[in-house]
Amino acid sequence: MVARQMAGSGADVLLLDRYEIGERQTSACAVPTGWLENLGLMEAERQRFDAVVVHTAHGTTRLPVPWTFSTFDYRTLCDLLWKDCDATFETAKVNGRAESNGDGTIAVDTDRGVIKAPLVVDAMGWKRVLAGGAGYQPPDAPLSRGLEVHPAGSSPDFEVWITRRYLPAGYGWSFPAGNEVRVGMGSFDPKHPVRPPTDLLADDIPVEKDGYQGNWIPHKLRPATGNNVFFAGDSAGHCLPVTAEGIRPALYFGLALGLELRAVYEGFQTREQA
Ligand SMILES: Cc1cc2nc3c(=O)[nH]c(=O)nc-3n(C[C@H](O)[C@H](O)[C@H](O)COP(=O)(O)OP(=O)(O)OC[C@H]3O[C@@H](n4cnc5c(N)ncnc54)[C@H](O)[C@@H]3O)c2cc1C
Repeated sequence: MVARQMAGSGADVLLLDRYEIGERQTSACAVPTGWLENLGLMEAERQRFDAVVVHTAHGTTRLPVPWTFSTFDYRTLCDLLWKDCDATFETAKVNGRAESNGDGTIAVDTDRGVIKAPLVVDAMGWKRVLAGGAGYQPPDAPLSRGLEVHPAGSSPDFEVWITRRYLPAGYGWSFPAGNEVRVGMGSFDPKHPVRPPTDLLADDIPVEKDGYQGNWIPHKLRPATGNNVFFAGDSAGHCLPVTAEGIRPALYFGLALGLELRAVYEGFQTREQA
């Protein structure tokens, strides 16, 4: 989103990721449909829902939602976002900050060498690599944890489970996306394992336990700037803590940050003002 917002400005933008664009899906990929529509990303939509089916220990209810939710295909969405950028992409693993030589640029150490730039964004998730991760590690840091399976299958319903059968604090989900379903568990307590409840939910539904993917999910804001680096998305804790929805805030704050950095590049404000 940041690079997309800089497109056409003439800035020399380099996007780095340890994987190719769209290679590793990081979530169940459910967002309010309006975000896909307004960003021109509807080609990535796989299924749309106008209600959430909520299962509790006391019963099941179908709650209409005031706006629809959509699941999307991760790779298609990433490709669509990238198509609107005029940046350069390279795969590299970022290790952290490197020694700067005092010329105003920020030096970043990667497994392919050191890179320097006047404006640097860390959008690498909860590890917040460019701030130095020391002292912020699960299970003690304020992080939720999530795990899901992605078996082939289909369902018309967007479902959540809020019951202690699975977790003391958290919820389970089944988000269908055309010809696959994304079934998982999120625990607000980072000390509580999510593999057994994910397996139990998959057995209850039932679905195959194929394609596990999981991660830590921040449930507390962190500073969006520090040491001249900008942070957006999970690196700044921009995730809605109760639902663990991190995609729309990542899109929102990525867009906002892109506007700020574009104004720096175009000379309307300084990096410090941004
Ligand atoms: C199981 C699960 C299901 C979820 N489901 C949903 C959902 O349905 N809807 C929703 O809104 N949110 C969901 N979330 C939360 C959502 O995935 C995150 O909040 C969101 O992906 C944050 O986006 P981001 O761009 O900040 O970070 P990420 O999506 O984590 O992207 C970080 C990128 O940085 C790269 N990277 C990381 N470290 C390095 C490094 N050292 N060097 C180079 N590159 C690096 C990674 O490869 C990755 O591409 C879910 C989370 C989990 C764990």
